[in-house]
Amino acid sequence: MNIVVLCKQVPDTYSERRLREDGALDRDASDAVLDEINERAVEEALQLKEAHGGAVTVVSMGPDRATEAIRKALSMGADTAVHLSDEALAGSDAVGTARALAGAIGTVADVDLVLAGNEASDGRSAAVPAMVAEVLGLPALTHARQLTVEGSTVTVRRETDDGVVTLTAELPAVVSVGEKINEPRYPSFKGIMAAKKKKVATLSLADVGVDAAQVGAAGALSSVVGATPKPPKAAGEKVVDDGAGGSKVAAYLVAQKLI
Ligand SMILES: Cc1cc2nc3c(=O)[nH]c(=O)nc-3n(C[C@H](O)[C@H](O)[C@H](O)COP(=O)(O)OP(=O)(O)OC[C@H]3O[C@@H](n4cnc5c(N)ncnc54)[C@H](O)[C@@H]3O)c2cc1C
Repeated sequence: MNIVVLCKQVPDTYSERRLREDGALDRDASDAVLDEINERAVEEALQLKEAHGGAVTVVSMGPDRATEAIRKALSMGADTAVHLSDEALAGSDAVGTARALAGAIGTVADVDLVLAGNEASDGRSAAVPAMVAEVLGLPALTHARQLTVEGSTVTVRRETDDGVVTLTAELPAVVSVGEKINEPRYPSFKGIMAAKKKKVATLSLADVGVDAAQVGAAGALSSVVGATPKPPKAAGEKVVDDGAGGSKVAAYLVAQKLI
């Protein structure tokens, strides 16, 4: 089966993340990594490939340095990649991102399954996978904590606030995965070396047949009207162990409603 994995490069959550004055992400302010949830999506794709055969293609939309995140996915074992990069994409909202990604997916032959994370750790819309499915006219199965493919059918166990429900759809389909889906593998040395030689097609909007007016700041249906820096962390409470330290910590946790 041919699987596409939507992989986004995001600011490392361990670094200080900042917005620019225009409300867009200041990408130069922090280290950039492959979003962890996308590592899980890649892992799921690799397990499906190991069970059913086929190929795994990474699709990523982002600036030049997104190639680092793409190489990470390739070093885990993905076969090939499409990097959608175009100046006109700057300022895209979730709808624009979905339109652009759907165009890029359209350049991959005979796609059976599109995998994504359920929420990116920077934008946090948790909307792009369902929007991609809408643009492509495919079923969307979101928030999967377990995924199986049998014949031409995909089944997921979907996690909701009210419990877990089972969803089934005919392939091709779009599935977004949650953090309980699996533990992603570490790239091996051999995988890292092999990734350097794997094919990454860098495409523009024109290459994927998407109108520049439908994406980027020009095509955005939503806008950032304000942003407030998060308040500095307050100093913690220090418990001195005078023999009753354990009880004091327990009382603190009870007061915070943590236990
Ligand atoms: C008006 C406006 C302007 C913005 N301007 C900018 C800007 O200038 N620069 C900027 O960085 N952000 C900008 N953003 C945020 C940006 O639009 C979102 O990050 C983007 O639309 C994707 O949404 P998300 O990250 O919330 O995705 P989610 O829906 O939370 O992501 C879920 C999954 O979708 C897939 N996915 C999402 N984005 C990508 C991608 N790019 N490539 C591959 N897979 C992907 C991944 O699998 C991901 O795990 C802007 C947002 C708005 C509303």
